[in-house]
Amino acid sequence: MAILDQGPPHYKKMLPPIVEENYGKWKYHEIPRPGVLKHVGESGAALYSVRVGTPRLVSIDFIRDVCVIADEYCDGYLRWTTRNNIEFLVSDEAKLNPLLEKLEAEGLSVGGTGRSVSNIVHTQGWVHCHTPATDASGVVKAVMDDLYEYFNTMKLPAKLKMGLACCLNMCGAAHCSDIAIVGVHRTPPRINHEVIRKGTEIPSLVASCPTGAIRPDPKNKSVIVNEDKCMYCGNCYTMSPAMEIYDPKNDGIAILIGGKTSNARTSPSFSRMVIPFLPNTAPRWPETTEAIRKIVELWIANANDGERVGEWVERIGWERFFTMAELPFSDMLIDDYIFSRETFRTSAQFKY
Ligand code: SF4
Ligand code: SF4
Repeated sequence: MAILDQGPPHYKKMLPPIVEENYGKWKYHEIPRPGVLKHVGESGAALYSVRVGTPRLVSIDFIRDVCVIADEYCDGYLRWTTRNNIEFLVSDEAKLNPLLEKLEAEGLSVGGTGRSVSNIVHTQGWVHCHTPATDASGVVKAVMDDLYEYFNTMKLPAKLKMGLACCLNMCGAAHCSDIAIVGVHRTPPRINHEVIRKGTEIPSLVASCPTGAIRPDPKNKSVIVNEDKCMYCGNCYTMSPAMEIYDPKNDGIAILIGGKTSNARTSPSFSRMVIPFLPNTAPRWPETTEAIRKIVELWIANANDGERVGEWVERIGWERFFTMAELPFSDMLIDDYIFSRETFRTSAQFKY
């Protein structure tokens, strides 16, 4: 069999010896201080993960510096998490405090564990992708700077998982976050018929539309978009450069809240939209950071101990949340929107 150089090496080749020895035999973990997880095996062996937030887009020099620290304190073992944290894996307890001192001296932020805000899992944004309605790393930086006091402490009612997806395709899995920041386009794609005729596979373009809004236009050797059916997702632009959708004036951010993937206490849930549009105000997105801080502070002030954002809102009722947050409540914001024009929702729990 040919050995190819595609893809990462098998993860088992990169496990620290302590993890290999205790594989499948870890008993419990605890959080001795914010940003530090202590994993204890059945044998009594202990491994510390020291979590450091990063802005995700980092330089090669930064990665080299981090590797030098890992060589010195962790026998070279560290990992990057899906939330763009670095976790230094320390098997020698005597090196834990010296590592924490080194990280502090280097200006690296340790946190994101337990009842804190985690680093925001996010997508590509303006740097890499072609369909974003907002930036990713820029918005995340602004929001995390604003919430930093909740990253390196554990004083929240429960953990706070945030996500950002820069378009509705949500490759950042933002749809089950306590607070999700989602880039939204608000205008349909602008068809460039010339480009379509030159090289777009029309059946694939038609098939790319999740709402069936695109149909062939054989007379023009192009396509037609039914704008009433279009939900501005940008999927067609992924299929063809002829379907440009970005629009500096109308693109922006929607805020969704109340999702979670955990089934602790209550079932997993999807996030629901509470703010349909905030403008793209790079580089610091003040409207977005302010809106998120307000929701977070409301949750801190009113949630019960251990209650995630969605659990708190479900307990008090979504209608009460909108009143408390001073957010306009529209017929498009609650999940069963088909019937919502008359009743806002069909549920018996409606409290207005
Ligand atoms: Fe691209 Fe959308 Fe993913 Fe953002 S969420 S990186 S725009 S596919
Ligand atoms: Fe269809 Fe989305 Fe393109 Fe609109 S933006 S035409 S919904 S694929």
